[in-house]
Amino acid sequence: MTRPHRQVLRNRLLMQPFTGSFTQQEPIAEDAIAAAVEVLKSGRLHRYNTVGEELGAVAELEAAYAAYQGSAYCLACTSGGYAMATALRALGVGAGDVVLTNGFTLAPVPGAIAAVGAEVGLVEITSDLVIDQGDLERKIQTMSPKVVLVSNMRGHLCDMEALVALLERYNVPLIEDCAHTMGASWNGTKSGSFGLAGCFSTQTYKHMNSGEGGLLTSDDPEFMARAIMLSGSYMLFDRHGAAPAPDVFRDIKLETPNMSGRLDNLRASILLTQLGGLETNIDRWNARHDLVADRLRGVRGVYVPQRPVQERYVGSSFQFLMPDATPDMMMQVVTQAKRLGVELKWFGADQPVGFTSNHQSWRYISPQDLPITDSILAGLIDMRIPLTFSLEDCAQVADIIVHVIADVTRQGAA
Ligand SMILES: *Cc1c(COP(=O)(O)O)cnc(C)c1O
Repeated sequence: MTRPHRQVLRNRLLMQPFTGSFTQQEPIAEDAIAAAVEVLKSGRLHRYNTVGEELGAVAELEAAYAAYQGSAYCLACTSGGYAMATALRALGVGAGDVVLTNGFTLAPVPGAIAAVGAEVGLVEITSDLVIDQGDLERKIQTMSPKVVLVSNMRGHLCDMEALVALLERYNVPLIEDCAHTMGASWNGTKSGSFGLAGCFSTQTYKHMNSGEGGLLTSDDPEFMARAIMLSGSYMLFDRHGAAPAPDVFRDIKLETPNMSGRLDNLRASILLTQLGGLETNIDRWNARHDLVADRLRGVRGVYVPQRPVQERYVGSSFQFLMPDATPDMMMQVVTQAKRLGVELKWFGADQPVGFTSNHQSWRYISPQDLPITDSILAGLIDMRIPLTFSLEDCAQVADIIVHVIADVTRQGAA
């Protein structure tokens, strides 16, 4: 008997359903709860409701996150989607402009582009789940985008130096969607620091958890002054934690509309405490991610996207491809895994489910022709890795996936 067969038999005998919850995050830590209670007791939840020299938790968070990111400026706001739409607005993107982004991303990205009335152009991805720079260059030539909003979907970074060089060649600015790459880097530079702006989310399932929340970073003073005014700053921009000097606002404060999307001190207080633990959590995520990835790599019919050495990723989720599987087999993998307690998401489904949808379901944008992306998504499985899972949990989850794949591919071949 060959090794894989023995493995399948052993797994079948040992296969216990997994009982962990894929949507259960860790509790908010006691020190963060204490900080939140302080804010509640003060009654001063609004970011500009400060006393004397008091900075307020939102401003403190902006200073702390700018320092962590290594950016000159940071704006805290209500969501990652708001950060992206604000970045586009601050750049002057509007009706009739084209914004290019990855064909594989989540709905808040085309949503942010639609929010400013711009045209969405989707770019093909590669089987390593990053933007295809060849297709990007072709679409830059034919569609003349105002900006490229690259989505580092599920934490996969493309060759960032090549991307920056390409966009510089065509003089197109870059905004990064870093909802899944907070804390990640490429060749030592933090994701979000390669272009004009980085957009981050602190929604519950991202790398810091305030329920909802967003952060926008940049080194460009005028861009950031406009973003701050857009966020609903009234004339209180001097109470920010990482803002450009007041003189930068001289004209901008009168020319920029207020589109309220401020973060509050309550949520900022829990984020401030979490930021101190982010690096440790990245190591914890990667230990879990790598354990699962190592078990899946080499399984027949499975491709695990490559992680280049330049990439320091954050393994808060895991993806693999089954390039030769039929839609029926993909459905089987999801269903059988679910029966054993493992929640997998399939991006190739023709109906959008939960948080997962693909470009065919975004009917508010013009139809896109993405044959390569479509064929990749048809075989793409995605899984959340919450930190409430132990390494043993991850090993069990991986074994279940290996078992299910073996079962489905054997039936598929029969
Ligand atoms: C979560 C997410 C965002 C931003 O989401 P918000 O819920 O608006 O904070 C942006 N891009 C991707 C890929 C995401 O997953």
